[in-house]
Amino acid sequence: MPQRVGILGGTFDPVHIGHLRAAEETAEALGLETLLFIPAADPPHKTGKRVQPYLHRRRMLELSLEGHPFFRISDIEQQMQGKSYSVLTLRKLRREVLPDAQLYFLVGLDAFLELNTWWHYRELFQLAHLAVLRRPGYDERRMADFLTQNVSSLYVGDACHARFDHPELCSVHYLHNTHLEISSTRIRRLFQDGRSIRYLVLPGVMGYIQANQLYCSERTIFS
Ligand code: ATP
Ligand code: MG
Repeated sequence: MPQRVGILGGTFDPVHIGHLRAAEETAEALGLETLLFIPAADPPHKTGKRVQPYLHRRRMLELSLEGHPFFRISDIEQQMQGKSYSVLTLRKLRREVLPDAQLYFLVGLDAFLELNTWWHYRELFQLAHLAVLRRPGYDERRMADFLTQNVSSLYVGDACHARFDHPELCSVHYLHNTHLEISSTRIRRLFQDGRSIRYLVLPGVMGYIQANQLYCSERTIFS
């Protein structure tokens, strides 16, 4: 049996319990043996926006995943040149790192419904199964239309297994993860406004943000 490996890419600026809980529930639902968190080195969707340097974002991930039996961090995007396009990352993982694994690319519903703006997005559906995490504010009923209109009309829903299947492309799974209305954007704003972020991030991350004054508006650095 090939190893089942999940991949969760993101800016993780900072990583929060919305990411962590969704990852845990997905791993359980799909029987994943490893889940790789891949911080984007140069996130294409954040061009012109303020993003903390890679090392801070990675360190906060490290503090959050410490002690987890199979959650790991991969620096693959930092090692690659140029923008962190998911297709390039998945190609490299497929060809060079995990050629025999069954890959599941985790993506929030907000991101999924914008996949058609991603570089060479159709190829994603050849490289890995997708696991779509539900997210408050985004309607899962839009998934079927999105898939058939933007990827292939041959995708067919299988409600029993909460997934869409295709004769040639990879399947798209839909997760019933706990709705957690938490985003990194909200956490950054709370911190800037001098409000509490306790319980939205793990204690180590809260301490790290405070110690390094990461989200104190003007001091934020362009990556
Ligand atoms: P930002 O507000 O800066 O965009 P974010 O909270 O969306 O941050 P990202 O690093 O952009 O975090 O997210 C990485 C991945 O995790 C994306 O696919 C995103 O949709 C998903 N994700 C983030 N937060 C949640 C959540 N609360 N529930 C489910 N999925 C989430
Ligand atoms: Mg986001």
